[in-house]
Amino acid sequence: FPEDPIVGEEDAGILRDNPDICRQVSDLVNEHTDAVTESRMLEVLDFGSRDTDFTKRFWTADPIDGTKGFLRGDQYAVALALVENGQIVIGILGCPNFQADDRQPDEGKGYLLYAVRGEGAFMMPLKGGDRKRISVDALTSAEKARFCESVESAHTSHGTHKRISDTLGITSPPYRIDSQAKYAAVACGSASIYLRLPGNKEYREKIWDHAAGAVIVSEAGGQVTDFGGKALDFSISRKLEGNTGILATNGHLHQQVLRAISEVV
Ligand code: AMP
Ligand code: MG
Repeated sequence: FPEDPIVGEEDAGILRDNPDICRQVSDLVNEHTDAVTESRMLEVLDFGSRDTDFTKRFWTADPIDGTKGFLRGDQYAVALALVENGQIVIGILGCPNFQADDRQPDEGKGYLLYAVRGEGAFMMPLKGGDRKRISVDALTSAEKARFCESVESAHTSHGTHKRISDTLGITSPPYRIDSQAKYAAVACGSASIYLRLPGNKEYREKIWDHAAGAVIVSEAGGQVTDFGGKALDFSISRKLEGNTGILATNGHLHQQVLRAISEVV
């Protein structure tokens, strides 16, 4: 499907403005691929910012989701999703530093997680090995739950999340991890809830930060909505213009958390 749009945040602007960096990047690209001219490389990088009909079929990619985590040597993810007629049909997350159970220090790091709509969610070690079906946890009482949120206070309102988790009687400290690794944590049951309310009311979430993670959580048996309980709408634009806040849970806790949100927000 060579004409399928691929929507992302990156474009070649900085490289076009900085010929030295452009040459270095082009040299690196050519170490890994067959001869690609600089102009072709720039053209390909600009592919992600083209106009797209979001109601049809498109891919959305985030080559490094959680840049802040990547720079700190913590969690980050390589994210790719296929959206058809507003429905996410495939989601893939490469999480090089992810541990399925972060509380087991001996547990290996680095997983690929993926889901195809209607066919379940799976993970496999990045270093190779068998895939295994994953599922959310079975917790039904919110006070025993652990919730995850962004590390970055600029990306999310830790204070509001605290009020929501206090309302639910949650006692575990928040599990703070960067990137869509939060969806991965919910999908494999190492957290039961992912809360995300941007601190800045004007901010609208970007589709590439959620599409892959959302289908993986749904296919692992969980539920993903906005803070009002509405489904995430990927058919509008590059942003989730129709949604405020993101809530991903194991499903069992979803209504309880939505009630707590409506008391607090
Ligand atoms: P996280 O690792 O959960 O903090 O999420 C990383 C993503 O947050 C990045 O890919 C950005 O697209 C997104 N982001 C950037 N600025 C904001 C903001 N002000 N509020 C919410 N998300 C943001
Ligand atoms: Mg991102």
